[in-house]
Amino acid sequence: MAKIRTQLVTWDEVVRWSRGLANKVIESGFRPDVVVAVARGGYVPARLLCDFMMVNNLTSIQSQHWTEAAKAEERAIIKYPYKIDLNGMKVLLVDDIVDTGESLLLAKNYILKNWGPSEVKVAVLQWISSAAKFKPDYYFIEVKEWIWFQYPWTRLEDTYQFFKKMLFEEGKYGRKRWTYQELIKGFMEWFDLDVGEDYFKDAIRLLVNNGILRKEDETYILVMQ
Ligand code: AMP
Repeated sequence: MAKIRTQLVTWDEVVRWSRGLANKVIESGFRPDVVVAVARGGYVPARLLCDFMMVNNLTSIQSQHWTEAAKAEERAIIKYPYKIDLNGMKVLLVDDIVDTGESLLLAKNYILKNWGPSEVKVAVLQWISSAAKFKPDYYFIEVKEWIWFQYPWTRLEDTYQFFKKMLFEEGKYGRKRWTYQELIKGFMEWFDLDVGEDYFKDAIRLLVNNGILRKEDETYILVMQ
């Protein structure tokens, strides 16, 4: 059994889910004047929604809550609290997922207070109904049990963080030396997630470059804990 519940999301799924989400917005009769992507997870869905809904105006806001895969910071912040004039405009605020909902709520309130729109509606690919503080106006998939979705736009970041977690935890029990094959096998057992060889290689290279692993011949040795 995997130690953290994860699910790989493919690019094809992202396109299919975004198309389905756009159709829900269109069917509701809401016609946004501008799409606002919540950075960073909302960028790709927001751009696809603009395409599927034929919206030209796209901007963004960075509301940050989770800084590492499957690990929440205590509270969300607006990273660059700039002001733009959306006076009287209808806004569709887009993100990948509502988990706790903290970052989206913060972004929505900030926009309502500072950018002057007439209306802000929220659209996400996925809504974790058991964890979220609110229900988005539009979602494509309702997730009933918490799971970490491994989206294509965080594939390297997540792989790197997950490796780190595995290495540090195993390190506590005295495991310090790994072959490349053992690293991959360990990752699959820990997370039940196959991100493909390119990502595995990139993540392991980053672990070496960042001084977490040291390579000696064919062995990787845990250095930093
Ligand atoms: P939150 O404020 O808890 O709703 O989450 C903020 C952001 O963290 C989301 O927009 C995602 O980019 C990322 N995130 C949170 N939970 C998950 C999850 N279960 N799977 C994948 N990404 C997540």
